[in-house]
Amino acid sequence: MTDAGKRRPDEPCWRVRVCTLFPEMFPGPLGQSLAGKALGKGIWSLELIDIRDYGIGRHRVVDDTPFGGGPGMVMRPDVMDAAISAAMAGLGDDTPKLYFSPRGKKLDQNLAQELASTPDVVMIAGRYEGLDQRVIDHAGLTEVSIGDYVLSGGELPALVAIDAVVRLLPGVMGNAEAHEEDSFSTGLLEHPLYTQPREWKGLEVPSVLTGGNHKAIADWRLQEAKSVTRTRRPDLWQRWQKSEDKK
Ligand code: SAH
Repeated sequence: MTDAGKRRPDEPCWRVRVCTLFPEMFPGPLGQSLAGKALGKGIWSLELIDIRDYGIGRHRVVDDTPFGGGPGMVMRPDVMDAAISAAMAGLGDDTPKLYFSPRGKKLDQNLAQELASTPDVVMIAGRYEGLDQRVIDHAGLTEVSIGDYVLSGGELPALVAIDAVVRLLPGVMGNAEAHEEDSFSTGLLEHPLYTQPREWKGLEVPSVLTGGNHKAIADWRLQEAKSVTRTRRPDLWQRWQKSEDKK
């Protein structure tokens, strides 16, 4: 196991352990920018469990052909169970264990928020055709998908999920309120954004944004957020309307 983050007792620390056949893919892009700085500061930490270490025999075999035939290889339940047990060392039974899989429930902002409020999370990145069903059931893995397309492994999904969580941790974003206004956090997609120059290629910034009337700006942004959500995401729009009705 390699520990890529330093702990600071005075700060909240979110710890994630990832079981993977490709530990060198981590922290990858999360070593840069906001997530990278937060990793360096010990706001979150990353431990990698190399599934190969739990492989069978001299060749450290981790997979075999599917019973019943068909293409590809399946990750062995005994090997995966050993890797998952290593990842769970010292953690409570209620620690979330996510297995990335196209069959899982979709990763969304709610799940990211849930994970951000849990001190430890274990993630399992699949390869080949995926894991033997028995270990998914036996270890009580929660299957999570990052979208309706098939990738070649669970490492990118793990990085995506970690990024979504890390930017929610206190002290990661420069501006503490920044993510409270993000798309999905309010239940709506975000309003359009503008910056300098005030006029560009003959195009002006909407005058309300430069007028200094904060109430008018907030109203305009809400109207724009509602309109973009209504036209682009009728599913989110319906849900938002329902939640407004309840208020
Ligand atoms: N045979 C599988 C696809 C295997 S892809 C199927 O048809 O469903 C190999 C691995 O990549 C999976 O085990 C999973 O860990 C990961 N993966 C691929 N696409 C993914 C997605 N959309 N979301 C999450 N994980 C995915």
